[in-house]
Amino acid sequence: MPRWLVSCSLAVVLLLVPNFGSGKTTGEPVHRIDTQKKIVALTFDDGPDPVYTPLILETLHKHRVPATFFVLGSQVDKYPSILKWIVKAGHEIGNHGYHHLDLNKLTEQQVFDEIKQTERAVLQTAGVFTQFYRPPGGVITHDVRNAVQSSGYDIIHWSVDPRDWSLKRTAAVIVDSVKRHVTPGDIVLFHDGGLNQKETLAALKQLITDLKSQGYRFVTVSQLLSEQAGS
Ligand SMILES: [Zn+2]
Repeated sequence: MPRWLVSCSLAVVLLLVPNFGSGKTTGEPVHRIDTQKKIVALTFDDGPDPVYTPLILETLHKHRVPATFFVLGSQVDKYPSILKWIVKAGHEIGNHGYHHLDLNKLTEQQVFDEIKQTERAVLQTAGVFTQFYRPPGGVITHDVRNAVQSSGYDIIHWSVDPRDWSLKRTAAVIVDSVKRHVTPGDIVLFHDGGLNQKETLAALKQLITDLKSQGYRFVTVSQLLSEQAGS
């Protein structure tokens, strides 16, 4: 093959390689980062929700706190204006799959399709590419790992889980759970979709005030990861 053709082929291949994510794509989930800085990433799963996502956005706006929303593609297609609102407010969008299925039962291709269907929904609705994937339930099988690697995503889990989705968890319990466990570099898991968001919302208001008074600063997941890269 002539050299110019090799160069052209290489250029085409390079152009086709997705350039999203942190470039790690090891298939290993990120739970938190090691840092001395008092920074924390708040994350919200299972939205957009027509009632509670706007209320959470208002609270975040009032306190000037950025967050990351791991959205479901099916919810994005139902409530596109709320996704646009999240993006316009400057928050980060993560990918939580399309239907919130049990990943233990899915093939690699089905997991890949879940990710890509949501990626398309977010891109078409709000014009942003998702680069982080949070598997529903945090489930990682061999097929999930392969699907995520071939999609070019990074898997983002969490390190603080106040189980705010449980109807048994009051706002006070959620607040107490986060405050007892949180340390610099943590990723906190909340839900803006589900059944218990009234308590999540009340807890969020209290937590932002309390953690700020402890000297914590809030960042998006990509800001958190860039701190790790720079340390
Ligand atoms: Zn979920």
